[in-house]
Order: sequence, then structure tokens, then C-alpha cells
Amino acid sequence: MRRNPLLIEGIERRAVSHPGEVTQVPVKSSKSDAELNEFWSAVDRVVEFCRQNAGEIDYEGAFPEQEFQMIGESGLLAAPVETEHGGLGFGVEPGRGPDLLTLLKRIGYGNLTVGRLYEGHANALQLIQTYGTAEQRERFSRDAVQYRHVFGVWNTEMADGVKISSLGNGRYRLDGAKTFASGAGSIDRPLVTGAFPDGGWQMFIVPVERVSTEVDESWWKPLGMRSSATFKIDFTGVELTDDELIGQPGDYHRPPWFTGGAARFAAVQLGGAEALFDETRWFLQKMKRTEDPFQRQRMGLAQIAIESGDLWLNRTGEIFDLALSANSEPEFELVTTYAGMFRTAVEQIALDMIRWSQQSVGAPGLARPQPFERLIRDLTMYLRQPAPDATLVSVGAYTLDRETPAHRLWERPDEA
Ligand SMILES: Cc1cc2nc3c(=O)[nH]c(=O)nc-3n(C[C@H](O)[C@H](O)[C@H](O)COP(=O)(O)OP(=O)(O)OC[C@H]3O[C@@H](n4cnc5c(N)ncnc54)[C@H](O)[C@@H]3O)c2cc1C
Repeated sequence: MRRNPLLIEGIERRAVSHPGEVTQVPVKSSKSDAELNEFWSAVDRVVEFCRQNAGEIDYEGAFPEQEFQMIGESGLLAAPVETEHGGLGFGVEPGRGPDLLTLLKRIGYGNLTVGRLYEGHANALQLIQTYGTAEQRERFSRDAVQYRHVFGVWNTEMADGVKISSLGNGRYRLDGAKTFASGAGSIDRPLVTGAFPDGGWQMFIVPVERVSTEVDESWWKPLGMRSSATFKIDFTGVELTDDELIGQPGDYHRPPWFTGGAARFAAVQLGGAEALFDETRWFLQKMKRTEDPFQRQRMGLAQIAIESGDLWLNRTGEIFDLALSANSEPEFELVTTYAGMFRTAVEQIALDMIRWSQQSVGAPGLARPQPFERLIRDLTMYLRQPAPDATLVSVGAYTLDRETPAHRLWERPDEA
């Protein structure tokens, strides 16, 4: 029998129900099952609103205001916060990895741009709760839970990237800009990275209501993901204090979260592929084209791909939990390689789904007001995430560097 590498001592195991599935995970939560079920019902309502409204906000310069209003009111901004600070512990406490990835997938299903922005929110809170001081964890958790502030992570930059210089007395000045900054001008608590003069890569939170920045909206002329408000933003002249710096220089790139975090965007992407799958089925049903053997064959292949994505997601969620307690190089490698396999598998599933959908719905389906051209544009754009080639190469290297038989390759290293 396969040994479970993920059983965590002293934590009760019980069933947690998501829409349409039951997963056995070790759970630490102050919420009752009824409260969690109510949470997932609220997620369904948010997702349905996102789905219905996605076409309305599909233009450059848009930001999903109403969606985030509803996300805040429904308590979703608190999900990736530790339970001791009023959250659900998704992605930050043992047993909640599959929940976080499922939530990301569900939101991505509703609208990929909302999923992209929510993924940044979860990423920032995860970094703060991993590397922040006790005071910062408490303060920024309160921002998310009580004040419904939306977080994000802005790391990507070009040659004019962000530099940090010390002004003395615990004060710092920023110079330079970030590109691909989703939600720039709209989100409340971006976690930004910048370089000290010695090259040290430092995370900090920019309290946007207190500083002045320059957002270049004209920078975003994308194929898809228009309403993600992914702009260029210049921080030149912004001043920060010590208590806004998160962790130490270099923490941002520290394993396993930097590379392993790819599991989060893959979960959102999978939601986009699932939406395309459902819309394709519903379109064929409406057109009464379900009897055709070629359509059936394509949708059979699509069903297998979508379901395998879900199986990947749940297993990766369990591995994600391992990342919380990982403290050795072999454990880091296991987590990051598994996340790399998940994102690579999801990319293939999504690319196949795009092709199957186009072939199935044909030209009539690819014209507005049908949703396919938007779903395909958004998914095509959002599939482009950093280092896909290097990720696959590192998966190959991981397996070629080991003689462990395949059925034990993904056990916790100290047990293998
Ligand atoms: C909708 C959207 C929102 C985003 N939001 C954010 C955000 O909020 N914050 C943020 O920090 N970032 C954000 N990003 C940026 C994102 O994280 C990636 O940095 C960006 O998408 C570039 O990824 P890429 O792999 O397509 O491009 P590239 O890195 O340019 O890669 C393109 C191709 O070149 C290959 N390649 C890469 N390096 C080399 C090399 N040295 N030599 C040869 N080939 C190479 C890659 O494997 C790939 O095949 C966002 C991106 C998108 C699409």
C-alpha cells in the first residue's frame, strides 16, 4: 500500500466537503463544518457572478470592482489568513493546501482575471505569514480580514526596476518601476520587491493610500486578461519605514515557496480550462450536436483531461501542505518539482482544451456574444507564466538523478 507522506502528527483527520467532492485531509480549523459549507456556498455565488459579468468588464483599463466587493463581503479575502487571526488558514496551515488550490480553481473558473488577482492576494499573505514579524502578521491579517484590503505581489520588472536606498533612521527611498503589476491603481496592499545597493532582493508592502505612484495604463495592450489591470507602475520617490519591509533580503526567492508557488497559478489556469470545457458541452447541447461520434470522442478526451487536472490539483494540494513543514533540501526539491509537474500538466490540459473547444464549436461559437473567444484569449494569455521550459527540464533532472522506483518517488524524503 502507498504510504501517506503527509500525515501530520496530532492533527485530527476529518472530511471536508467542497462542491462536488469530498477530500480526506488533516485539518486544523476553528470553523465548524457548517461554517465551511456556508463558505463554499458563498464561493459558488461569487463564481457565478464572476462568470456572468466577465464579458462586461472585458476591456483594457478595467478592474473587477464588483467582483472584489462581493469577494470581500463573502469573506473570501480572509481565507488565506491564519485561523488565529480570523482566517481559514488556506495554504498557510496544515491540511488546507487542497482547499486553497480548489478555491483558486473555482475563482479562475468564474473569470481568469479575478482568479489572477486573487492568486496575488493569497501569494502576498502567504509570504507575509511566512516571513513577516508577529506584529506584521497580525497587522496585515487585520487588513485582509477586517478592512477587506486586497493584496498582490509585484515582482516582475525591466531594466528600470525598483532600487531601494537607505535614508537612515529606519527609512528607505524607492526608485524605479514594476511591469506586469496586476491590479495597479486598484489593490490596497501590494507586496513589492526591490534591490538594495548590494543586490539583496527585499520584499516590502506599499501602503498605497499614503504614497504617490505613477501608473501607466497604456502599457497593457494584451491578447487577453484585459480586466486584470496589469499595468506598469513607477515607485520613484516613495518612502518606506522599517516596519513595511517583509523578511530579509533573499527571502522572496527562498525555496520551496518561490518555485512551488507555481501550483497556485496552475490551479487558476485549470479553472479557466474547466470553464471552457463546460461552455463547450453546453454549446453542443444547445446546438443539438451531441450525437455526433467525433464530438463525443473529443469531449471524451476533454473530460479525461479535465478530471486528471483535478486529480493533479488535489495531490499537489497535499504536497503543498508538506511545504509548510519542509526544512531540508530534498523536501524543497520534492515540493518544487511536484508543483512544476502540476503546472506543466495543466498547461498541456489547457492547450488541448483550447484546441478541442475550437474544433467542437467551430466558427459560430468563436464569435461574440458566445464566450469562447474571450475564454480562449484569457487562457492563452494567462498560460504564459515564467520559465516553462526550465521547469520541465528540472522535472526531468529530478527523476534522472534518482534511482528510487517510481511508486516511491514522491514519498517524503526521510521516509523513502
Ligand atoms: C495576465 C498576467 C498577469 C501578471 N501579473 C503579474 C503580477 O501581478 N506580478 C508579477 O510580478 N508578474 C506578473 N505577471 C508576469 C508573469 O509572472 C511572467 O513574468 C510573465 O508572464 C512572463 O512570462 P513568460 O514565461 O511568458 O515570458 P518569458 O520569461 O519571456 O519566457 C518566454 C519564453 O522564453 C523562454 N525563456 C525564458 N528565459 C529565456 C532565456 N534566458 N533564453 C531563452 N529562452 C528563455 C521561456 O521558457 C518561454 O518559453 C503577469 C503575467 C500575466 C500574463
